[in-house]
This record gives sequence, structure tokens and C-alpha cells, in this order.
Amino acid sequence: MKRFRTIFPHLDAKRDPDSLLRLFVSVALVSIVVITSLAGYAFYHVLQKNVVDSAEEDAIKVSTALSEDERGRFTVIRKDGTVAVEVLPENFAILDRDLRRFLAPFDIVKIKIYSSDYRIVYSTETKLIGEVNRGNQRLSRALAGAFDSKLERKEEVKDLADELKFNVDVVETYIPIRARGKVIGSFEVYIDVTKYRRQTMNAALLSLGSLCGILVVVFGISFVLIRSGTNELKETQEILRKQTLIDGLTGTFNKGQIELIGRREFARALRRREKGLADAEVGFIMIDIDRFKQVNDRYGHLAGDNLLQLFADRLTSSLRSYDSVGRFGGEEFLVVLPGSDREQTLGVAHKIWSLIREEPFHVEGEPMRITASAGVANVQQDDDDLLQVLKRADLNLYQAKSGGRDRVV
Ligand code: GH3
Ligand code: MG
Ligand code: MG
Repeated sequence: MKRFRTIFPHLDAKRDPDSLLRLFVSVALVSIVVITSLAGYAFYHVLQKNVVDSAEEDAIKVSTALSEDERGRFTVIRKDGTVAVEVLPENFAILDRDLRRFLAPFDIVKIKIYSSDYRIVYSTETKLIGEVNRGNQRLSRALAGAFDSKLERKEEVKDLADELKFNVDVVETYIPIRARGKVIGSFEVYIDVTKYRRQTMNAALLSLGSLCGILVVVFGISFVLIRSGTNELKETQEILRKQTLIDGLTGTFNKGQIELIGRREFARALRRREKGLADAEVGFIMIDIDRFKQVNDRYGHLAGDNLLQLFADRLTSSLRSYDSVGRFGGEEFLVVLPGSDREQTLGVAHKIWSLIREEPFHVEGEPMRITASAGVANVQQDDDDLLQVLKRADLNLYQAKSGGRDRVV
């Protein structure tokens, strides 16, 4: 699995919807390339084999017809009664004329007739006559009784009319010549398949183009479907993420998150203090609405909820962008003020306190005046845990309450 992941680094990335989508695109692209290449290779070979097979079939047909019509002109019967491949001088001209006439309508560019001792006894390319092709293994196979066909590209070939043709695809087929059950020689037939091969190539390219098009469409549709799925997934993840951080009623951080933020700021302040750096402060305000129970009792729980939202909004609007506020309990909030020393924290607490008491809240159209009590604490020299600071803030809040509420301690 580890190695698999080094090949596909997307798998190593966080498995969020976007990286999964990127993984899908990579896999789709690789698949298109691999499938198209393999299919192209297969198409090409199947079609090429067809060309060779049908050329071989033609060559066999032509040779069979030749054997029937012209046998007397390229064989001789020896004194011992055996038949051998041989063209007697008196037969040559007629054989040559007949062959050229006979072969012209086919795509045959050349024909050779071999005797059993590998000698060319006849060829439409006259200068080859008499050559002995001992090392020719394909000829050996034909002389042993087998057909042998092969596609070859020739830079130039002389056709039956002695005209030069360039860049020709030729299927060369060896066909055994038999007499009384014995192989006595072989034909070698050259068939020009250039135009078939071109057609083959075009057919293969066309099939590949279609296949590639189909794959692109299929993967494209899949991509669109998957992307709409991953988008939904991302939205859901975002909602879930918010739900784990944010209090649903007030939109401020929830208890766990504001504690986490407080802990982070507390650690940062300690670190800076240890290094003797400036800005090693952090202030905490614990703030609680006074006699909130009465609001619930008098106006109902929904109005209470509404007031809590408005209260949280006013709290948030009175803070700097890097301050944080979270709902710590029912109607109790914790404010974290990074970088604020004792005086500054007290200042912010007073500002909040007066903002709350000076302007009434409008709950269901009714103006409602409330007050709040706040307990303030800052990090001190011997603090080694956030809870110590929060405990002091809580104690101060308790003192504010027991001292008559509507104040900052
Ligand atoms: P004190 O001045 O001592 O803080 O008095 P209080 O009535 O505000 O304090 P107490 O803790 O006795 O009551 C808090 C009330 O807040 C109790 C509960 O019914 C109410 N409360 C807690 N959470 C919610 C909430 O989400 N919505 C509403 N409407 N009320 C809540
Ligand atoms: Mg209260
Ligand atoms: Mg309370």
C-alpha cells in the first residue's frame, strides 16, 4: 500500500473531496491513454493480420490456378520418371507472356518460381533467374511443405510492367509446388497491399478516435456527477465542521472551541514570557447576563433565545478582529483577548458592560433593558495552566454577582 501511494501521491494527501476528485481525473486520464494505446495496438494487429491473411489466400489461389494451367511450362519429367521444377528455354517466352498477362489484374508485383535446390528458375524480374537462395529459411519451410507469408515495406519495387514503385507494402508468400504428393519447388508471390494497409490504418485510427471520444464522454459525465457529489460532500463537511466549532444559537464559538483558543493563547503568552519577549499577555473576561431566568419566565424561552443572540452580536461587535468570544454556559460567555494586559482587559470589560446596559435590546418588538456582570483575569507569573486563570475569572464573576450584579470585577 505504501508503494502504491508513492505511485499515486494523491492518496497520500488528505482525503478531502477535492483530492479525491483530482485522483479521479488522474485515473481517468491514465485510463484513457492506456485503453486507447492497448486498443490501438490490438486493432492494428488484427487488421494487419487480416490484410496478410487475405493476401496469402489470394496468393494461394493464383498459384493453384498457375499450377493447373502452366504446369507443363515450368516442370520437366526426368528420365527416372520424377517431376522437377525447371523452365526449358523453349518454354520461357510463352511462360513469361502468360504469367504477365495472367497476373496483371491482381495486385501482384512479382512472382518467382524456385526449384527444390533453392534455385530461381523463373522470375518476372528476369535478372534474378539462376540465383540460388540457400540460406533462405522461409523458402526452406515452403520446401518442407508449409505456407509462409510476411508483410514487408519495400522502398522500391519493380512491377510486372517493369515500372518502379516506391514505398510499397508487400505481402510475400511462399507456396509449395507439389507433384505426386512430393514438394518439388515453391512459388514466391509478392502482392502489393499498400492501399489495404492504408485503409487498415485509417480504420484503426477511426476506431481509436471513436473509442477515445466515447471514453472522454463517459469520464466527462462521471466527472460532472462526481463533482456535484463532492461539492455536496464539501458543503456537508463545512456544516459539520462549523457544528463542531460554533454554537448553533449565538454563532459564537462553542465551549470546547473557545477553551481551545484560550489554551492556545495562554501557551503563546507563557512561551513569550519565558523568552522575555514583549506581548506576553492575554486577558480573559467571563461575562454573564443578570437575572436571565426572569427574562425566560416573563417573556418565554424563545424570547430568551432571541435575547441571547442579540447579546452575542453586541458582544462580538465590541471586539477586535483577533479577539474571540464563545458561549461558555447557558447565558455565560468567555472572551479571549490576545495581547491584552490587566488594564486593557478591564477596559474592554467595561466597554462591553456599558454597551449592554446603555442601549435596550429589541426582543420581539419590545425594548428590553438588561445588565451583565463580568469577572476579569489575566495570566500571572506563576500560572501554569489555563484553568487557574479561568478559575480566577469565575471567582471574580461570582464576586460581581454577590456584590449586587451589574458590574465588572
Ligand atoms: P444571575 O444574575 O445570578 O446570573 O441569574 P440568572 O437567572 O441569570 O442565572 P441562572 O444561572 O440562575 O439562570 C440561567 C438561566 O438561563 C437558566 C436557564 O433557564 C437559562 N438558559 C440557559 N440556557 C438557555 C438558552 O439557551 N435559552 C434560554 N432561553 N434560556 C437559557
Ligand atoms: Mg445569569
Ligand atoms: Mg449563568
